[in-house]
Amino acid sequence: MKLKLLLLTVLLLPCMLVAQPETPIEEWTGKTILLVGAHPDDDTMSHGTLSMLNENGNDVYILLLTTGNVGTADPDMTRHQLAKIRRQEQLDAMEELGLPTENYINLGYNDGMVEFADREEVVKRIVYHIRDLKPDVMFSFDPGWGYQTWHKADHRAAAYLAADAARAAEWHLIFPGQIIQDGLEAHSINEYVFYDSVDEAVNYRVDISDYAERKWNAATKYISQFNREAFNDYKGPNPEDYTNAEEYVERMRMRVYERGAVDGVPHESFRYYRGIPDGMGTQSSHY
Ligand SMILES: [Zn+2]
Repeated sequence: MKLKLLLLTVLLLPCMLVAQPETPIEEWTGKTILLVGAHPDDDTMSHGTLSMLNENGNDVYILLLTTGNVGTADPDMTRHQLAKIRRQEQLDAMEELGLPTENYINLGYNDGMVEFADREEVVKRIVYHIRDLKPDVMFSFDPGWGYQTWHKADHRAAAYLAADAARAAEWHLIFPGQIIQDGLEAHSINEYVFYDSVDEAVNYRVDISDYAERKWNAATKYISQFNREAFNDYKGPNPEDYTNAEEYVERMRMRVYERGAVDGVPHESFRYYRGIPDGMGTQSSHY
């Protein structure tokens, strides 16, 4: 009997170690999805998948912590101007993907400074939106599994703040004012799709062939970030306003169709985790 149990455990071990969704992500429908990121463009790593989820009848929300008001080398650019430009780029990209622009939430923090913001306040504000939207799934920067994952500053902060908020949202005595005064309820998210994971952590790849063209079009909208010439000397949102228009549009195409492709087919790669937030640092859903 004991031997049978042992054999069963050995046979089941690979499934237990690598959590997979009960229903493939490609077949999800009727779910509420919340992506948390630091900057307008952090969501680009998931654009094909988000566009697919939206088309398949899921509600997709994008919550970004900063306005992106620092990402430029243009000496004439101001923070205020750049925040406005990046807001418009984000909305234009969402439109290309078919995502409702009213589902864009920005918490308005300064770019580059997320890790110095008041952590309790940031977590509280993310928790508010989690309790308000009641997402079934959270997309976020991968906080890591086994060990913490290093990301550049705001991304690192966003990974942990999203994780901490997911955990805080389920405890009704944390930020109780949201429950007593605002009429919200504690909410538990049980599925996570982490982007920007290290290769060894990736356990789910989505074929985005049908959404690649939209993703390409959306990527070209972030011209202040992805076009080096615009990054140094911003002249407006149209690629044609820059001498490198052709090269830029082609580079965005390669970014979608070649970078991250599997056997020549465009894919997006994630670490999927299912279970209580406390266990998101493991590969198993049996925390
Ligand atoms: Zn970023």
